[in-house]
Amino acid sequence: MGLAAAIPQSGTPEFIGVRRALILFGSPGSGKGTQSKFLVERLGIPQISTGDMLREHIQLGDEIGLRVRELMRAGSLVSDELVNKLVEERLKQQDTDRGFILDGYPRTLHQADVMSALLDRLKIGQLVIHLVVDYNVIIARISGRRQCPVCGTLYNATSKPPKVAGVCDLDGSALVIREDDRESVVRERLDAYEQKTRPLLDHFRQAGRKVIEIDASTLKPEGVFERILEQVQA
Ligand code: AMP
Repeated sequence: MGLAAAIPQSGTPEFIGVRRALILFGSPGSGKGTQSKFLVERLGIPQISTGDMLREHIQLGDEIGLRVRELMRAGSLVSDELVNKLVEERLKQQDTDRGFILDGYPRTLHQADVMSALLDRLKIGQLVIHLVVDYNVIIARISGRRQCPVCGTLYNATSKPPKVAGVCDLDGSALVIREDDRESVVRERLDAYEQKTRPLLDHFRQAGRKVIEIDASTLKPEGVFERILEQVQA
């Protein structure tokens, strides 16, 4: 089935009235960004990606952008204080009223604690969706990833190749490797995930939060999406 067919219309009734945070959890390359986009389409709720927010600041060249640029270039995490603030501010926007997707946040124990306190205070439920992916699959995925420097579209040599190799389907620009997809940076990002982020899974469970595990190694993106929907709508 094509992707368009797999994603029914947005704004579905079953999600209305529930203000819930869908926390997409997984290592770099686990498909959080792709699944977030599907969920945005299907449920009509916004994606809150701290990585995208930080990249926007870098593009703008503002004070935050200048502060995080080098850290992100190296694949290191930026400060908890900064991302906590970005998320808290973002949740004040009305489009989050019916729920939202957290993509790439929280990533440390401190972020998880601040987030849980904030969500509890705002009476927002939370569902953690863990996209489980084999290490070798991640390496293969990330190393095949290319991006259009003009429109930002992401491609992948195996799962989403452009029609003409190395060229953007939409505007014909030559595709590039995203700065943080370079090999040394990928290793650093995976290390940061193992050391600082993966331990959150136990933390969530110990705190009695529901954690849904989905096999995102062997299932295709559409299959992963169906599983997520089943859980979200259960
Ligand atoms: P992402 O696009 O989610 O993979 O994030 C790209 C980069 O942004 C990461 O490698 C970090 O440098 C930074 N970043 C994004 N989200 C966070 C977060 N929650 N905590 C700390 N750093 C983050």
